Amino acid sequence: MADKFIPPPYNYCDYRCSECEGQENCRVYKDDQERVMDHFRRGEDPYDPKIFMNDIKEIFKNTEEMIHKCAEEEGIELDQAQDEEMPDVNAEDYAVYRQAFEYFERAHAFIKDLQRSGIPDGMQLPYEDLMWYHTLIAAKAGRLVSGFIDDLLEEDIRSIEEQGTIAVIRKGIKRSQAALDNMLGELPNNLEEIAGLLDILGRIERQLDTDIRGK
Ligand code: SF4
Repeated sequence: MADKFIPPPYNYCDYRCSECEGQENCRVYKDDQERVMDHFRRGEDPYDPKIFMNDIKEIFKNTEEMIHKCAEEEGIELDQAQDEEMPDVNAEDYAVYRQAFEYFERAHAFIKDLQRSGIPDGMQLPYEDLMWYHTLIAAKAGRLVSGFIDDLLEEDIRSIEEQGTIAVIRKGIKRSQAALDNMLGELPNNLEEIAGLLDILGRIERQLDTDIRGK
């Protein structure tokens, strides 16, 4: 049964499981479904914040155990790892992160406005896309730049990691652009804000195209 699950690079997916064609072969998705079903069987609400936080704690505990097991198998002594070996990255130093964060802040304000004024009929899907990806783009941009000075990873692994992260950011940009394009026709009172958000997304794309390490 375990062999059925292809180990996808979860770091590179956008976690929109409801739209993903890889559900059947995804261990992350399967585990989450099992977690939810277990709670329902016990008569609990799996989305209750307390229950959810307990689950997160459990997941971290299991992850820590897995890391220790892997380290042991590789002969790495984690207790002796030096803190100074970890690179200290200031994400703000990199243009792509600054742009992604600017986008996050402005999109967040726009989303709050939409929530206050009410989401028009037919705009629910674009709204959900906008909401989902505005955090993901910023989070993945942070992840991208944090890898720039990580010399603990081998070059080929770092390159795969980088390309995967960039692909998710690009997907988030495309989906957000499509959502904003949809809104352009439906929200005439918000044209300026929508145009501003599209402009930032365009800048992030150009930064990725031309100089991802630019400062
Ligand atoms: S099912 Fe969800 S977690 Fe798994 S690859 Fe698809 S989007 Fe990612």
